[in-house]
Amino acid sequence: MAFCSEEINFVLIPLMAPGHTIPMVDLAKLLASRGVTITILLTSLHATRFKAVIDRAVSSGLLIRLRQLQFPAEEAGLPAGCESFDALPSYFLVTNFFAAINKLRDPAEKIIEEITPRPRCIICDRNIHWTAQTAEKFQIPRILFDGMSCFSQMSIHNLYILQDDNRIPETAPFLIPDMPDRIEVRRAQLPGAFNPGTLDMGDVREQIRASEAGAYGYIINSFEELEQKYVEEFRKVKGGKNVWCVGPLSLCNEDSVDKAQRGNPTTSIDQENFLKWLDSRQPGSVVYACLGSLARFTIAQFIELALGLEDSNRPFILVVKAGDKQLEVERWISENQFEERVQNRSLLIRGWAPQVLILSHPSIGAFLTHCGWNSTLEGITAGVPLITWPLFAEQFLNEKFVLNVIGTGVSVGSESIMFMLEEDRSKRKVGRENVRSAIERAMEQGKEGNRVREAARKVGEMAKKAVQVGGSSHLNLTLLIQQIIISAQNN
Ligand code: UDP
Repeated sequence: MAFCSEEINFVLIPLMAPGHTIPMVDLAKLLASRGVTITILLTSLHATRFKAVIDRAVSSGLLIRLRQLQFPAEEAGLPAGCESFDALPSYFLVTNFFAAINKLRDPAEKIIEEITPRPRCIICDRNIHWTAQTAEKFQIPRILFDGMSCFSQMSIHNLYILQDDNRIPETAPFLIPDMPDRIEVRRAQLPGAFNPGTLDMGDVREQIRASEAGAYGYIINSFEELEQKYVEEFRKVKGGKNVWCVGPLSLCNEDSVDKAQRGNPTTSIDQENFLKWLDSRQPGSVVYACLGSLARFTIAQFIELALGLEDSNRPFILVVKAGDKQLEVERWISENQFEERVQNRSLLIRGWAPQVLILSHPSIGAFLTHCGWNSTLEGITAGVPLITWPLFAEQFLNEKFVLNVIGTGVSVGSESIMFMLEEDRSKRKVGRENVRSAIERAMEQGKEGNRVREAARKVGEMAKKAVQVGGSSHLNLTLLIQQIIISAQNN
């Protein structure tokens, strides 16, 4: 039986966290731009956050359907309305959060049963393990997406082998084995599976890992030229399974409204004045500092970051997002008249920043980032050097990739993971002088600055080529769709 592309319905099920949902919505737009039908399942809060972006895509002719799931927050012991990872009032509630996700299986399957055209593939976040049984039930391929690079996937794969042999040293630095490059780490820098904090997530993690077994393939937000050796290795260790690098996904947001509204339709800035301010700056002169969507930073570290930026004597944009510590941070800002002190050359953004819009502006000269993979890749795509300050999860691995593999960044010297709820206990603090000096090294006209900026410029160009017609990511997306069409025909 032959299918035309719009008869191929992909069901997308993202995890309820900005760093996971944002690239999945980009992926929805990208796939739909090739003529296939997309049904994306979002809980109410995310449906509100992404509605404007999806509505605009639909009015431009893309076949994207948004179906809402009710997130059973209270039933799982979470406060009412708490339906996104960034809204958790306490990280001890993470297990409740996963319990709520488990309860979404029945309503999601009901939707999958009803929708037309008949779903031919599920693309889901790797962390939603019940999708394995759902795909089995509907006899359709399940493709995993978890927002990590192939470099991190490979690092984690090899770290599990070491761990199973009890060979991860407690404190001494060691090399991750079987990596194409020399990657030295310490346990204190590793993600929870190898370096657990107080919160025991072992069972959830194992359940997720086990559910990977029957997956049909992996979609990766990266591009082949960026990490060719790691893409090949990843394919190999997954037994030759399909691995499609289709990124950078953020590049599917071409116009400034899409860039501005990505992830959140409301930002606290007056966009017109903000862009005027950026236009008034010298090209490549502004440091943009943002530490992701989850607001995991201590007051002490915020102060060092702010003072390091001030001491750099360069213009900067600082995103002030401190979660439950926002009031304290605001008190420090106002008691120390920080905003007044830097106002001639800098801007503070409260809440959500239009990151991709900011990074695409020619005035931006460097990106101080916590090295979440989305942010890392967005900085790489913008062609700017990264000033790396990893905080948690696989962010130290992303830092290693930036520093040791592609050479497009300098580090502030963060040494260990900040554990959930134990942020104040992390050992050596990054000081303002570390921040100032990293900014200087990335932006100065000296040897290191020139090398890092040139490397950043080159990979930025490669990133843009990858998604153009004839580019590797463009081709991978075509192959993915063709393969699902063939699988539908054989079914
Ligand atoms: N982001 C944004 N504005 C903000 C904070 C984050 O647009 O104020 C976006 C950012 O562009 C990225 C995502 O949120 O796409 C964050 O994902 P990442 O993997 O970098 O880190 P996480 O927030 O998951 O730690």
